[in-house]
Amino acid sequence: MGSKLYLIKEGEISLKGGNRNLFEKQLRHNIKNKLRPYHSEITKQKGRLYAEISDKAPDEIIRKALSTTPGITGFARAYMAEKSIEGIKTKALEILPSSDFRNGDSFRVTVKREDKTFPMNSHEVSCELADTVFSLYPEMTVNLKNPEHTLTCEIRGDVYLYTDEEKGESGLPYATAGKGMLLLSGGIDSPVAGYMMAKRGMKLDAIYFHAYPYTSEMALEKVKKLASIIAPYLGGLRLFVVPFTEGQEYIRDHGYEEEATLMFRASMMKTSERIARENGGNAIVTGEALSQVASQTLDAMSFTDSMTALLVLRPLVGMDKEAITAVAERIGTYETSILPYEDCCVVFSPKHPVTRPVKEVVTRHFEELKMEEMIDKAVKNTVVYSFDPMGNEINE
Ligand code: ATP
Ligand code: MG
Repeated sequence: MGSKLYLIKEGEISLKGGNRNLFEKQLRHNIKNKLRPYHSEITKQKGRLYAEISDKAPDEIIRKALSTTPGITGFARAYMAEKSIEGIKTKALEILPSSDFRNGDSFRVTVKREDKTFPMNSHEVSCELADTVFSLYPEMTVNLKNPEHTLTCEIRGDVYLYTDEEKGESGLPYATAGKGMLLLSGGIDSPVAGYMMAKRGMKLDAIYFHAYPYTSEMALEKVKKLASIIAPYLGGLRLFVVPFTEGQEYIRDHGYEEEATLMFRASMMKTSERIARENGGNAIVTGEALSQVASQTLDAMSFTDSMTALLVLRPLVGMDKEAITAVAERIGTYETSILPYEDCCVVFSPKHPVTRPVKEVVTRHFEELKMEEMIDKAVKNTVVYSFDPMGNEINE
């Protein structure tokens, strides 16, 4: 059975001192896990990973797997060449026709000569390889500073050639920084929040509060779709769908109207904490940004924080909507997030929500509501959906 070789560059991990091995091991595991249906071997040499992946794995699948895995700064399909200038040129002639190189474009050659016993220096090898490129594409031009294409030759123990390096996600491998529970709604913000924490190494599950029939089946489908889109960045996730219709109605009927959103958010925190703890999580992640809406003022967030002993992380807190939207577009969640199905906050939103709640007062009001039973029931009736590291739903 044949295999193809991919060269993988790790970014920030290479800065890690004593923990470096742990991070690398996790990254290798994360990559292998994504390519689980295909045989793959990953080896390491000085700040590089080399993945030998079964020929049966389609290039598109490999690209999706590598481009969505945090901890990878760049990757390329690579080829081994015989360790001689003739061998290197022959291999270049062989691989260039299937690369992006074409007449009229600019290019450069980059040679990294780690093996100082190789008889030619980097500059000499570069010149030879540039000649090889010109022999195939006489109308290409050299541009050292800002080339459209790069042909790289790394002379190490073995010799590797590659073109068209693609950018990776950078960041750190997920599952190296603890586990959290992402509050995932159908909006633009929360999928981005999850993505950002995954890139800092967190493993995440997600939780969605569903208020059927006030929010439709379509709203749930939308959240499931968002979960499947962010799953590759997170290495797969479970989505806990909490039925919270009764809870919402109860708050509407027994609480103060202008505090309804705060009471709901307090209930979400309590419920999320329960489900997080039962599943090994020790933090809650939300898509809140300061002052974006009434329930995201400092006073409101400080109140909801006080409802849980878990650390509440809000990676978007200092970002404006434009910047958040740009990330959503890049990671592919935006189109789904703007589909028109209302989320449950909207349905039960008060006309004049309090923006400057006094913590002692709203805390007392929340205690008076006695939500424990509602929360117990919601937790008991929670339904779990699972998504694998490539974003496919797993039917258990
Ligand atoms: P988003 O775009 O993420 O929906 P938003 O700007 O609409 O956020 P809110 O509706 O106030 O803001 O929600 C703030 C955060 O609370 C969300 O980012 C999400 O983390 C969480 N959240 C809101 N509604 C739900 C829900 N129904 N289920 C789970 N989490 C929710
Ligand atoms: Mg929302």
